Amino acid sequence: MKSMTRRKFFSGLTTGAAGMLFGSCGKQRQGPGGEKHDLKIRQYNQLGKTGIKTSDITFGAGSINTPRVIRYAFDLGVNIFDTAAIYGMGVSEEHIGQGLKGVRDKACIITKQRFWGGRKASKRGIIKVLEESLKKLQTDYVDGLFIHSLETMTLLNNEEIRSAYSQFKKEGKVRFTGFSTHSEKITLAECVKPEYEDFVDVVMFCYNHMEGRTIEPLIANMRQKGIGTMAMKTLAGGKQGNLKGFVNEQLSYPQAAIGWVLANKHIDCAILSMDNFSLVENYVAASGKKLKRTDLALLQKYRDAVSNSYCRVTCTTCEGFCPHKVAISDIMRCAMYYEDYGQQKKAIDHYTALPFTHKPIFCRSCRGHCTHACPYGLQVKEKLLQTHMLLTV
Ligand code: SF4
Ligand code: SF4
Repeated sequence: MKSMTRRKFFSGLTTGAAGMLFGSCGKQRQGPGGEKHDLKIRQYNQLGKTGIKTSDITFGAGSINTPRVIRYAFDLGVNIFDTAAIYGMGVSEEHIGQGLKGVRDKACIITKQRFWGGRKASKRGIIKVLEESLKKLQTDYVDGLFIHSLETMTLLNNEEIRSAYSQFKKEGKVRFTGFSTHSEKITLAECVKPEYEDFVDVVMFCYNHMEGRTIEPLIANMRQKGIGTMAMKTLAGGKQGNLKGFVNEQLSYPQAAIGWVLANKHIDCAILSMDNFSLVENYVAASGKKLKRTDLALLQKYRDAVSNSYCRVTCTTCEGFCPHKVAISDIMRCAMYYEDYGQQKKAIDHYTALPFTHKPIFCRSCRGHCTHACPYGLQVKEKLLQTHMLLTV
């Protein structure tokens, strides 16, 4: 591996290492370079009460730059594709539209609408945003429409949003609704209440081996109520950046991390961001796999390595100590996209879209209450300032 670049190693996968890593049996398929392999989705689960059977591995299109990757994943059996109106300023939706041309009725598309804190949501505006999404997606309906990144329940009680989404369902423009969230402890607990029953069909939330245990009772409760459960941030930041020290495990770590997530019977599917053919192959190979003892040992090794540098996505402890209401978790997530995931554009887009008042503009002269508050020992203040420099365009 030493003399091999990561790119070469990955591109050799479908002919060499893939045989060992992915097992071999059944019908052979053709990879993007013409090579043969037998990768495919091996497990489909009910997505809550939607009546949809979802592949256990689903496609996150946050940083996609070609429709061919989408079509490749579809051909391997992936059947849910998640995007958002703001991903790539609409480019992600366009790629999904092109990638699923001719097979639209065999795939599910979920798109999301973001309502930044305090921004007034108007039904007219919401309808306009969905119409634009449908045009880019080349379809007259989406399967799922989600509120993007719900942090408190305020938006779920918003009449304009509720009315627009319910109208979409009646008109057949949307099959199911829900939300994505990074504030699991609040939103997963609240969303099961009867007043949200007609809105919350499916929820997409962070769940991984580094921080998932604390929300497992909430997930079980949601599942009991028939709410579909989609796990995101499943790799706990374990992409390029954080895997630098894992020379021999760069391929097996994602498989172990995904296996851990899917071992929870209350999880319907894991959503993975895929922006190239190699990632599609690596993640699809995790479909239907059972978690092994060696996987657990590898996950422990990863936890030991990144414990004081990985910002837990479901944690907002330090935010309560900030006198300036800096959006610490959002900014840390942007840093993760940029440094660990190698998704520079997505990171910059997200950071640019953050309201200026939530950026770390007062941090330099602050004593760093956030750093003192972090129970995991992260150098929060320094990280925020670094990220601001990195992502300010
Ligand atoms: S360093 Fe910045 S984020 Fe941290 S407490 Fe101070 S103002 Fe808030
Ligand atoms: S920096 Fe620490 S306290 Fe703040 S959100 Fe991340 S893990 Fe939690």
